[in-house]
Amino acid sequence: MPLARELIDTIMRYFCPRCGTAVERRGVSFMAVTHLRCASCGQDVKFTYSDKLALFERTARAIAKLA
Ligand SMILES: [Zn+2]
Repeated sequence: MPLARELIDTIMRYFCPRCGTAVERRGVSFMAVTHLRCASCGQDVKFTYSDKLALFERTARAIAKLA
């Protein structure tokens, strides 16, 4: 399943696995990265394609619930 293009401008939230702080970015910028740096604890988080898929799916489901 490909990443949904219509979500590239949507603000998404990814939670740092170490401290739980939300990292907020637009979908397009999540698409482009392979690592995320937590602004709170400095943890370097590996962000894989399956992480991206899960994040996009979660966001799409959240939007569908609001509609
Ligand atoms: Zn953190």
